[in-house]
Amino acid sequence: EYKDIATPSRTKEILKKYGFSFKKSLGQNFLTEPNILRNIAAAAELTDQDHIIEVGPGIGALTEHLARSNGEVLAFEIDQRLIEVLDDTMSIYDNVTVINEDVLKADIETVARETFSTDGGIKVVANLPYYITTPIMMHLLMSNLDIETMVVMMQKEVADRIAAVPSTKAYGSLSIAVQYYMEAELAFIVPKTAFIPQPNIDSAIIKLTKRTTPIVEVTDEKFFFKLTKSAFMQRRKTLWNNLISFFGKDEATKAWLEKSLAECEIDPKRRGETLSIQEFGNLSNSLIANKE
Ligand code: SAM
Repeated sequence: EYKDIATPSRTKEILKKYGFSFKKSLGQNFLTEPNILRNIAAAAELTDQDHIIEVGPGIGALTEHLARSNGEVLAFEIDQRLIEVLDDTMSIYDNVTVINEDVLKADIETVARETFSTDGGIKVVANLPYYITTPIMMHLLMSNLDIETMVVMMQKEVADRIAAVPSTKAYGSLSIAVQYYMEAELAFIVPKTAFIPQPNIDSAIIKLTKRTTPIVEVTDEKFFFKLTKSAFMQRRKTLWNNLISFFGKDEATKAWLEKSLAECEIDPKRRGETLSIQEFGNLSNSLIANKE
């Protein structure tokens, strides 16, 4: 039996051995609470059949818990200094592949195809670097990877926005972009004290599960996402005012917007934040259908 990496003493020992100094610019806050890592891995309900992708393994605190599931683990780490550390800390596992690349630039689909021994769905499990949480989430969701589940740690504020429901302050285009693909559930909150070095904000684990049936059938996804963004451009404005500033104030555009809103029974005086994902989907479909 090996001692967990994520104890404060073992982490410090590893950092010292390699003379590692944290780079704040890379969002390096390492977890040093074995229980939290166990809970993250448990939330992902891992089996030995799983294909697991981790973003930012650091020194392997979470990676070892993923590896212990006996599934196949593929981890992307941008910091070249951590590669030799991971070579060492992960040497007892033969089911871990570490790629020294920026996850936003990597061809994840190709690497995944080449790494995993079989086809099948993917689970993403990660303690994300906070400076690029949203770009990483969108990059993964918009990719062609068949992601079944994501269990990811992030700043609590972003987790709240992702899981938000209509008519709340946190609800916006990010909530819609994520919940369009996945069902979102806030799993648990993680205190700052669980990290070295301590971040100055609280963190949360969010669990996303791929929808088995779409929340709404959208005829043009690109337009749908454009529409949702436009509706939140100025949160204090009405939906109508946001729509005309985005699409245009000429009579033909106004008539097109009015007709589509009426068809969907959406009051133009409402604020964008009161619309459900289904309502945005219906409005998007009407706007597309009513375009001459
Ligand atoms: N998984 C470790 C843990 O839980 O202790 C480390 C998590 S730390 C919050 C984020 C990790 O992501 C760091 O190791 C950092 O070097 C890495 N990272 C930052 N930007 C990255 C990027 N664009 N692509 C891949 N890894 C990145």
